[in-house]
Amino acid sequence: MFNSLSDRLTATFKNLRGKGKLTEADIDGTAREIRRALLDADVAVPVVREFIARIKARALGAEVAQALNPGQQVVKIVNEELVGILGGQTRQLEFAKQPPTIIMLAGLQGAGKTTLAGKLALHLKNQGHTPVLVACDLQRPNAVKQLQVGGQRAGVPVFAPHPGVSSESEAATGDPVAVAEQGVAHAKDSLHDVVIIDTAGRLGVDEELMRQAANIKSAVNAHETLFVIDAMIGQDAVNTAQAFNEGVDFSGVVLTKLDGDARGGAALSVASVTGKPVMYASTGEGLKDFEVFHPDRMARRILD
Ligand code: GDP
Repeated sequence: MFNSLSDRLTATFKNLRGKGKLTEADIDGTAREIRRALLDADVAVPVVREFIARIKARALGAEVAQALNPGQQVVKIVNEELVGILGGQTRQLEFAKQPPTIIMLAGLQGAGKTTLAGKLALHLKNQGHTPVLVACDLQRPNAVKQLQVGGQRAGVPVFAPHPGVSSESEAATGDPVAVAEQGVAHAKDSLHDVVIIDTAGRLGVDEELMRQAANIKSAVNAHETLFVIDAMIGQDAVNTAQAFNEGVDFSGVVLTKLDGDARGGAALSVASVTGKPVMYASTGEGLKDFEVFHPDRMARRILD
């Protein structure tokens, strides 16, 4: 009958309105429900454990507001904590005082970087910016071509090493760091105010991938490094996010494939273990399936 966590907790405690302070018994019952909801949303196990401990510590002895029952009071605390971990307010891109602003995308292969590059370019173009896309994924066959198609759809130019490169052997001969540098030089010459650099991913985290991404980042002095992660990644979110955080010290997170079954637990896992804010969400394969990320809405999605 009650599907959402908020409803379940509120119902459990509906007769206890205005009972004073939250007790151990109140909290144990609710903690179990919260743990289940977070695990259902695919939040990583260690993150859930830490979260529950924090909720318990905060809730024990907390005054139950007159207008609420203990369940609602805990829901309120859980919501505040979720929003806090997810970064509080929506974090905006920081634009360089001296253009161009250089934004680099990093993440595993298949996370949705190339798709996201076109979406972000369109989003920024619609805000009055003049972005250029730079194709530095020279590993995946067809990635350059895919970026060019995305750029064309978005009406945003693409800087690529050899226009139309699509065969693996041809692409692998390029040096992604050199392409990134040339792309930034091109952006300066052509007065583009934003450069979006698509980089290569691997199926799993590996050192060479990380070194390459870090080399690109430092060669062009990227202002923003966005870690792109598939929301369906589940429990692997923690290891992957930690590896990229150490490897490239990203500044923000983009969660992709939120149109699938994923309830967004990966957002909480990544934000919790790295302390970095989620900034955007991708919700489909189309160019318009893109949203600025709102911590409060994601908290509601997890709680509901
Ligand atoms: P990359 O290897 O990180 O560059 O990943 P791609 O951009 O090539 O995306 C991998 C696959 O995921 C492609 O088939 C995309 O169409 C698909 N994809 C990317 N973003 C989304 C999304 O938000 N939702 C869905 N359903 N599919 C997506």
